[in-house]
Amino acid sequence: MKMKGFAMLGIGKTGWIEKDVPACGPLDAIVKPLAVSPCTSDIHTVWEGAIGERTDMILGHEAVGEIVEVGKLVKDLKVGDRVIVPAITPDWGSLEAQAGYSMHSGGMLAGWKFSNFKDGVFGEYFHVNEADANLAILPDSLDPAAAVMLSDMVPTGFHGVELADVQFGDSVCVIGIGPVGLMSVAGAALRGASHLYAVGSRPNCVQAAKEYGATDVINYKDGDIVEQIMEKTRGKGVDRVIVAGGDNDTFIQAVQMVKPGGVIGNVNYLGSGDYVRIPRVEWGCGMGHKTIAGGLMPGGRRRMEKLASLMETGRLDTSKLLTHRFQGFEHLEEALLLMKDKPRDLIKPVVVM
Ligand code: NDP
Ligand code: ZN
Repeated sequence: MKMKGFAMLGIGKTGWIEKDVPACGPLDAIVKPLAVSPCTSDIHTVWEGAIGERTDMILGHEAVGEIVEVGKLVKDLKVGDRVIVPAITPDWGSLEAQAGYSMHSGGMLAGWKFSNFKDGVFGEYFHVNEADANLAILPDSLDPAAAVMLSDMVPTGFHGVELADVQFGDSVCVIGIGPVGLMSVAGAALRGASHLYAVGSRPNCVQAAKEYGATDVINYKDGDIVEQIMEKTRGKGVDRVIVAGGDNDTFIQAVQMVKPGGVIGNVNYLGSGDYVRIPRVEWGCGMGHKTIAGGLMPGGRRRMEKLASLMETGRLDTSKLLTHRFQGFEHLEEALLLMKDKPRDLIKPVVVM
């Protein structure tokens, strides 16, 4: 049987293609999307060639869907179940997963399969490996459009908070308040940050950052963000920095603004250049106890269920991210191009089928 999908045809080229509906292995599921969202990473992939050449690969890794087929060894899921699909779908039996780093199962970053090593979720159907371990049931009370933010934006933004190890009363700076950084702001607030500085410029993002708990907003277009942070903290700097935007040079600023003993958590995707530079003196000549951690979001059903429970209990409202809603599969291209062009009023587009 054939299906349609919106694909990367090659670096810099996209279009609709036809492919066979994927086959279902014994542990797997075939899912049809109910709601999907394009990601900034799709833009890096197609227009910056960040993961190298890909030909006729269906894009997308953020979806909520309905199961249409399950393999014979799948225990907890059945046809008709509505599920949250994490962007990262590890092989749970791998040694990397056993070591606690499932996102690197099979090799560095290899838990990221959709729109990387296999077709993504912008098709009429898509394949999910190890369905019992990778899919979470969508709670009835959640709107599928808002729940799509559980695929990548919430787990990635929150992972920045985990990497930076935010503790009660910490002062935190979140650099970048696109949808990922906004979820870092929300996560840092839930984890008990005190002063919460959010760096960005788009008015909608700034407004949302305040609603998610930012105490101060810093516009990087108004001058050096390190100077602005130092002014606000009387020269002390912050306990934690979460990097969810900017470029390779943003690390220099993150190291400069974090206190000795502080931690920098990066979830930003560095798509260009050979090196990330660390300023020697501000890094304490190598002795400053300024930790830099960077990671791909963890996937997995357990984590998804827990994150979904934050939405169910009303502690997290992702609907503020959804600035552009489309109805119908045919709007995928339009939604993706919005993510590429980043109009000033955009936070995140969502396409509901
Ligand atoms: P956006 O492009 O929407 O947001 C980027 C943010 O960074 C904006 O707030 C932007 O400000 C700000 N910014 C841009 N330049 C600078 C600068 N020089 N200094 C400070 N801030 C700056 O991206 P997303 O939120 O969608 O994604 C963020 C990153 O996370 C991307 O690189 C994406 O690929 C990556 N990612 C990583 C994942 C992971 O698992 N680790 C998963 C998903 C995404 P402005 O308001 O002016 O636009
Ligand atoms: Zn993504």
